[in-house]
Amino acid sequence: VDREGITWGKAPCRFCGTGCGVLVGVKDGRIVATKGDPAAPVNKGLNCVKGYFLSRILYGKDRLTTPLIRKGDKFEEASWDEAMELIARKFKESIAKYGPDSVAIYGSGQWTVFEGYAASKLFKGGIGTNNVEPNARLCMASAVTGFMSTFASDEPMGCYDDLDLGDTYFLWGANMAECHPVLFSRLIDNRLRNPNVRIIDIATRWTRTSQMADQYVPFRPQTDLALLNAIAHVIVKEKLYDEEFIKKHVVFKRGKEKIGYGLEEHSRLFVDDPKPMTFDEYRKFLEPYTPEHVAKLSGVPAATIVELARLYADRGRKVCSLWTMGFNQHTRGTWVNNLAYNVHLLTGKICRPGENPMSLTGQPSACGTAREVGTFTHRLPADMLVTNEEHRKKTAEIWGVPADRIPAKPSLHTTEMFRALDRGDLKVLWVQVTNPFQSAPNLNRFRKGARKGGDRFIIVSDIYPTRSTELADVILPSASWVEKTGMFGNAERRTQHWFQLVNPPGEARNDLWQTLELARRLGHGNLFPYKDVEKEMWEEYRRFGLGQGKDLAPYEAYHAARGLRWPVVDGKETRWRYAEGFDPYVKAGEQIKFYKNKKDEGRAVIWARPYEPAAEAPDPSYPFWLCTGRVLEHWHTGTMTGRVPELKRAAGDAVAELHPDDARRIGVRNGDRVKLTSRRGSLTLPCSIGGRGKSERGSVFVAFFDEAKLVNDLCLDAFCPISGEPDYKKCAVKVEKG
Ligand code: SF4
Repeated sequence: VDREGITWGKAPCRFCGTGCGVLVGVKDGRIVATKGDPAAPVNKGLNCVKGYFLSRILYGKDRLTTPLIRKGDKFEEASWDEAMELIARKFKESIAKYGPDSVAIYGSGQWTVFEGYAASKLFKGGIGTNNVEPNARLCMASAVTGFMSTFASDEPMGCYDDLDLGDTYFLWGANMAECHPVLFSRLIDNRLRNPNVRIIDIATRWTRTSQMADQYVPFRPQTDLALLNAIAHVIVKEKLYDEEFIKKHVVFKRGKEKIGYGLEEHSRLFVDDPKPMTFDEYRKFLEPYTPEHVAKLSGVPAATIVELARLYADRGRKVCSLWTMGFNQHTRGTWVNNLAYNVHLLTGKICRPGENPMSLTGQPSACGTAREVGTFTHRLPADMLVTNEEHRKKTAEIWGVPADRIPAKPSLHTTEMFRALDRGDLKVLWVQVTNPFQSAPNLNRFRKGARKGGDRFIIVSDIYPTRSTELADVILPSASWVEKTGMFGNAERRTQHWFQLVNPPGEARNDLWQTLELARRLGHGNLFPYKDVEKEMWEEYRRFGLGQGKDLAPYEAYHAARGLRWPVVDGKETRWRYAEGFDPYVKAGEQIKFYKNKKDEGRAVIWARPYEPAAEAPDPSYPFWLCTGRVLEHWHTGTMTGRVPELKRAAGDAVAELHPDDARRIGVRNGDRVKLTSRRGSLTLPCSIGGRGKSERGSVFVAFFDEAKLVNDLCLDAFCPISGEPDYKKCAVKVEKG
């Protein structure tokens, strides 16, 4: 308690996967201030502008405070008992009439670990359906399949310390300055201390990141696949690779090459069929990717490609690659992740302080909840899969349910979930902590599908009215952030805990309580027999990872700590995985061991992955690429940040960023309205020329935070067939004067 009577507690930030530590000031039962936590190693007291306004996000005037039930076109207030009774009845009726796969829960990387774990346990272990998905499928799924296919274990070997220790940073399709601003500040700090540091921004649009970079390398959308192969081509041809590292730590494989784009209805996730190959065969695979050939494809000059390859391989420099949605939201998202690892594995620049590849997560617990708890249709906790009998058995044993309760087949991944709702195959959908009817691709179709009637029934738990609550049959008012006790896991494997600091308003309740209440009403209350709910649930959950290289610490260990990076063994966190001296699973003398990949005797895989064109590319009718993304001031669909007047003023409405030459040709000036049309929908909005982001010629960029401008109406629902992650970065549109 300080002199002004404010009590300060710690929590991770509510927003992005950076996981900044925040101090939260409470007075008279309200959050009155927040500030960066100087004791937090992630951010060392710094926050970005969203973090500085955290104290305001819970106090919008239209906060939901009571359950609401749809009556025709209107919603009427209801008691929790009425709402939960109706929900339980709809679940029971649907399961009885259509089977367990007719119901689903769709959550997010903003679920606390407890909420995600409870949802997975109820649906997979209680109801007996694998219809559990997080919105992380739209965000990090390709990073997961990239890690799994290359290293047989999800999540990075490196950590944020690499931002302070490296020399060369390749940013691939990552606008870090706006999407991971605090991490970008660490990078810039490193450069201020060490003038030798170089930041290379390889991207399809010029951003604030490009402005700060030492080199901006624009490339044509989708050709990152070819560029990475060309970099590998040069490294192999000029013998710049680390021969000893390759001999000891690497195997070569190829998978199926023609895998489609997931555009067909009922698309299941593709299971690869890997075949071993030799280094020589890999060398042959790379032959066509000459710098000259790839220069024509990508627009990057051949000399620049050679320069990038030599920089990657420079023995005197520590190299990191960082990426986010440019790689992950990609119809070949798994492949492009594999290709980035290839370059690090060829050069041996991996698992060492200051030299690692890393996918940066978008959401605060995309790692902790979606990936580690395994809230995807195909996953179980600690990297386990529903398709594996041993994994199902182990899970059923910990959960105390019959071994055959968890179905052996994955069911609906996110895009298919919304397709199934439209088709009428999915009847009851519960949405928690996310806003899919603004954030899903091909949104026009899915919004219409949601209100087609019949036996469809949609429940949305949220803290404010959103573009999703407007399509619901029941709206449940939720508690958020420090209105409940929670745990998040960030992008560097850091698990953070916080205690409830204030009460939620009105009758709002946390999503964990809501899930447990449904469980009780469906007769599955025995799955959650806890007295001290969070502590006992955590201790049960952490049994999955112990001894598996995924060890989490006892519950109390997180109370005072500013997070711990797993594996946590004998009370010590791990900074660099697979590395002797850092990772407790690597024995003395082993130096580096990818021990999770038992199939390949502890080696990582270099994959031969070819360039494939995008699912939809510009043509004479739709001559522009459309790319979507985020801006600094707003978090995802803007439901929280849009209610902070200062953030709203700083970035109020979405705009279409155009190249000046294209604007001239269309006949528009800065601020004029333009109409964007794809094969799926259209959107009219002001254009921006020469603003903070600058599109390349033939491209247009629109951020997706603005609930009044649903740019996702235009997006295609093509996805990476291995990860199921849709490509929000590439589809074809025409641009006209609006
Ligand atoms: Fe840190 Fe991200 Fe929160 Fe900004 S939004 S304060 S970068 S965690």
